[in-house]
Amino acid sequence: MTKILIVEDEETIRKFEKVNLEMEGFQVVEAASGEEGLEIARKENPDIVLLDVMLPGIDGFQVCRQLRSMEREIGIIMVTAKNQDIDKIEGLEAGSDDYISKPFNPRELTLRIKSLERRLNKNQELSDGKQIEVGKFKLDKASRKFYKDNVEIDLTPTEYSVMVLFLENQGEAISRDEILDAVWGEDFIGDSKIVDVNIRRLRTKIEADSSKPDYIKTVWGVGYIWES
Ligand code: CA
Repeated sequence: MTKILIVEDEETIRKFEKVNLEMEGFQVVEAASGEEGLEIARKENPDIVLLDVMLPGIDGFQVCRQLRSMEREIGIIMVTAKNQDIDKIEGLEAGSDDYISKPFNPRELTLRIKSLERRLNKNQELSDGKQIEVGKFKLDKASRKFYKDNVEIDLTPTEYSVMVLFLENQGEAISRDEILDAVWGEDFIGDSKIVDVNIRRLRTKIEADSSKPDYIKTVWGVGYIWES
């Protein structure tokens, strides 16, 4: 059973999210602040964290960064108050897998959670024990770890899915839509900019100069290609 941690200071919203997710068969634990959220995340090992941005004390972006520094693979969906691109992008830069803007309806919330749940499960299924080695890079599908020059590079679950797609399709241009379908699922209802943000974040992690990428190259008018 997928366990979801809700981090939200407003009780009415927290209860609304909890009731709806429990109706969909998820196990739910709650926290009313970022600090409490981190503590419960350590104790309860949630699969997915639904994380409000505006929190008293440490904010959602900081919580997101700290969750990412934990050993365990956790899916993170940021909940933004405003419908502004900049908030969404900042949340994604902090390492979240997706975002949802308040106010949202229960159906949209469920779709986002299920889409991320599928991605996390797919990463598990992809653990077929194979290793892909390409030049300086090694992707170990058994441990779901990624290395450059034998140094592990921390990837979010979403970045990991994107890397598998690139390394299994080396030298082939992959469109944004193909990346969206393969990684986020065909029912993804968000903005395709999410692909670009993830690519940018991947480049800062693996390229020597992310503005002049040697590996993840842009194919103008199409999408991206892995070259090495
Ligand atoms: Ca809040």
